[in-house]
Parts: sequence; C-alpha cells; structure tokens
Amino acid sequence: MPEGDTVFLTANRLRAALAGKELTRSDFRVPRYATVDLRGQAVESVGSYGKHLFIRTPTVSVHTHLKMEGSWRVFHCGQRWTKPRVAARVVLSTEDVEAVGFSLGTVEVVRVGDEDRIVGHLGPDLLGPNWDAAEAVRRLERYPGQPIGVALLDQRNLAGIGNIYRSEVCFLRRVHPDTRVGDVPDLLALVNEAHRVLAEAVDKPPRRPLAYGRTHRPCQRCGTPLQADLLGDTAPDHDRVVQRERGIYFCPHCQPVPAT
Ligand SMILES: [Zn+2]
Repeated sequence: MPEGDTVFLTANRLRAALAGKELTRSDFRVPRYATVDLRGQAVESVGSYGKHLFIRTPTVSVHTHLKMEGSWRVFHCGQRWTKPRVAARVVLSTEDVEAVGFSLGTVEVVRVGDEDRIVGHLGPDLLGPNWDAAEAVRRLERYPGQPIGVALLDQRNLAGIGNIYRSEVCFLRRVHPDTRVGDVPDLLALVNEAHRVLAEAVDKPPRRPLAYGRTHRPCQRCGTPLQADLLGDTAPDHDRVVQRERGIYFCPHCQPVPAT
C-alpha cells in the first residue's frame, strides 16, 4: 500500500508534468464526475497531505487517494499506457503529456477552498511544510491505552504512515508495536524518527525496509530472527474506522513484548 512518501513523490512527478500548463482534455471515469470538463483550465499547483493528493486549477481541486492499488503515471502523448485502460479513473492531458490515475481508491472534484473538509481533521503531515512533532505527540497522547502500532496508522494523529513505516519506526526505536502509547518511553523521539524515516525515503528512494516483510531474517542489530504478527487497526489509513488486521514485523529481542 502506498504510504506518505509515495504520495509525496507522486505529487512531485505530477507537478513537474502538469503545473503551469493548460489542460487540453480531462476525462473522469467515475460516474459522479463524468461530466466535469477542465479543458482550457491551467493546473496551478499539485500538492499532497499525508496520503491525499490534490491537483488544482484556479477553480477546482482534483482530490485522489491511492488506497491499496492506486497509482498515477505520466505518459507522453501517444505513448502506450503501461497499465490496462479499464483501470484508468482520471486522465488529464496537456499538449505534450497525459497524466493517468489508475485504480484510484478515491476520486473527487471539490472547490479549492473545500480541501480542508477532506484533510482538516488529520494530524500534522510528516512531509508537509508545517510538520509539527509536538502536535503529533499531543494527538497520540489522547489515547494512551492504544497500541502504538495502531496509533501510528491513525491519520488523525499524524499523516503519512502506513503498514510499512509503522513497523520500521517501532523497530528503529526498539518499541514493540503492541506497547501502549502511554508506555512508550520517549514518544517525541519516536515521532521524530517517523519524520526522519519518511524524509529520507523521499530524499533517497527506494528505501529498503529493516523490519517490514523480513520474517525469519536476522535482525540487523542483534541477529535474532525477526517475527511477524497481526495487529488490529481500528482507525487506519483512509481516515475511517474499520476493523482489520495487518502484519507487523519486529525483533523479539530488541523489541520485547510489553508487560501487561
Ligand atoms: Zn534485534
């Protein structure tokens, strides 16, 4: 699943391809917006907030969320698409490029001033210009009994972390993901670590995980085979509350199970 770094880099690519250019065609392949026509409008800016992406003209903002499988690709006009045409949800064309959003989880066209309705309730964006570690800590501390591995996924605490980085951040801070937020020794350091890891992933992609997906492989600190477990998440990535379990990865030696 794409996390904040992927969305941030996607916004960079779309900005380079579209910003300042006039749209020669728009094609929304979702029923609700099928009649929206942005032809003749210039793309003013492209931005991201956590896992949300915004492509803005002077009048509207095209909001998309990649969710599980979504991606944006930029093609030269006439270039063959690298994904099936039926998966395309949005096509935005300029004179020289086509930006195509495939398998997007969310597609919405809103007024630029209404973006706040979509992301206003989220915690500080780990990759945003106004990142605020103290505010992220304050929000995490509202639910001290919640496992930190769950709280890190809740975008209302801090925005941009998904399943991969919750394992990575907990591993780096030697905190078992089941540890209650109130029992994490240094919450600010953990939040700063999350910021550092995402900033590094954006700066030097691709980043190779230290813990995520490395079941039975040796811990790079102590050599103990890493373990995988499931940790429920009750307030996860698309800001909505759902019940499901997703994998966490940890070193049983460096990240001992918390005492209950
Ligand atoms: Zn270890």
